[in-house]
Amino acid sequence: MIKISILGSTGSIGTQTLDVVRNHGDKISVVAITGNENIDLLEKQALEFQPEIVAVWDEKKAGELRKRLQGKCEVLEGLEGLSAAAAWDSAQRVVTAIPGMAGLIPTIEAIKKGKDIALANKETLVAGGSVVMNLAKAQGVELYPVDSEHSAIFQCLIGNQRKYLSKISLTASGGPFRDYDIKQLEGVTVEQALKHPNWSMGKKVTIDSSTLMNKGLEVIEAKWLFDLKTAEIDVIIHPQSIIHSLVEFKDHSSMAQLGEPDMRVAIQLALLYPERHENNTKSLNLAEIGTLEFRKPDVNKFRCLKLAYDALEAGGSMPVVLNGANEIMVDKFLNKEISFLDIPKIIESVMNLHVPIREPGLEEILEIDRWARKHAKEKAGIIS
Ligand code: NAD
Ligand code: MG
Repeated sequence: MIKISILGSTGSIGTQTLDVVRNHGDKISVVAITGNENIDLLEKQALEFQPEIVAVWDEKKAGELRKRLQGKCEVLEGLEGLSAAAAWDSAQRVVTAIPGMAGLIPTIEAIKKGKDIALANKETLVAGGSVVMNLAKAQGVELYPVDSEHSAIFQCLIGNQRKYLSKISLTASGGPFRDYDIKQLEGVTVEQALKHPNWSMGKKVTIDSSTLMNKGLEVIEAKWLFDLKTAEIDVIIHPQSIIHSLVEFKDHSSMAQLGEPDMRVAIQLALLYPERHENNTKSLNLAEIGTLEFRKPDVNKFRCLKLAYDALEAGGSMPVVLNGANEIMVDKFLNKEISFLDIPKIIESVMNLHVPIREPGLEEILEIDRWARKHAKEKAGIIS
């Protein structure tokens, strides 16, 4: 029986993780769950899965849930509660399914306590890559990717083949605007951007998918997870999202991992690896699908992808700036304060102000993140 803690159990990855647990109750049990403020759902989850603790970010809501769960389950609150859930004694593996930088500190707390990580939160590695990887190595902690592309690469490398790798290709659906020209991109609305063609996900990652920043963040995530150089990471548009990513080896043999787009497959593997078990996801039927298409991404139209590569090349603390500025821009776009094309424009202008430092420590990362957010807000204020 593996015991897990889920950070962000009320979100898209969190609820799908609980679905996997529901299916494999004899193999996985939940000892901690956390959420931002949706205490109705947290209450339901707590009653169904009977964790040892629940943590709620919003302190007022935590008080209310505490009353409701009195005598049944302990309720903690705020960053302290979140970190306690991440480092919870009986948890062996922690699912990091909170979006953004908010996931960094709890992930570090979990690694410090020697917990393996089922990593959904890519921003953790984008901003905290060297700190997180060094700590994980020192603690002998495994990072099992939940992101479907990284799970695919991980699966292609099973069998000690990493040493023969020559490059990887991360596939991208291209998002809802993949066929738009730059003129059409100017006028896209929040509602259009929130309609992803293949995946149902939280708002932040859905907007990132529409700008291709999600793929850019995944390029940086891949760098850290698989110890790659920028030139070893390609991105290819694949609208059907059937091939989840590929590895090419030195002998020009390529391996890919395929499946219907369903995050529960990657989540299940991240929880049960190296075991594979039956589930109720859809079996792949290539004859029914018929055609798989591929094309190069257009980085002139989708500038965010180019900016992520630039940040990776600049190295050091530049990805912290990319990530922090992007989080603010996604919020501003969702609040209809800026346009779709303002997103890369402002991120780039904030990156231009930053001189990266090499191997930033945690305090420096947090400081640079605050700096990037402040400048991004100021610049957005000038534009809107
Ligand atoms: P979501 O918005 O659906 O859920 C987020 C969860 O985190 C919720 O439980 C919410 O209550 C909680 N939360 C949000 N902000 C918080 C904060 N500041 N403090 C504490 N808790 C907070 O998001 P999601 O789509 O499940 O994505 C989660 C992470 O997984 C992201 O980093 C995303 O990039 C990554 N990811 C998601 C998918 C997907 O299919 N949804 C795929 C790959 C990777
Ligand atoms: Mg992904």
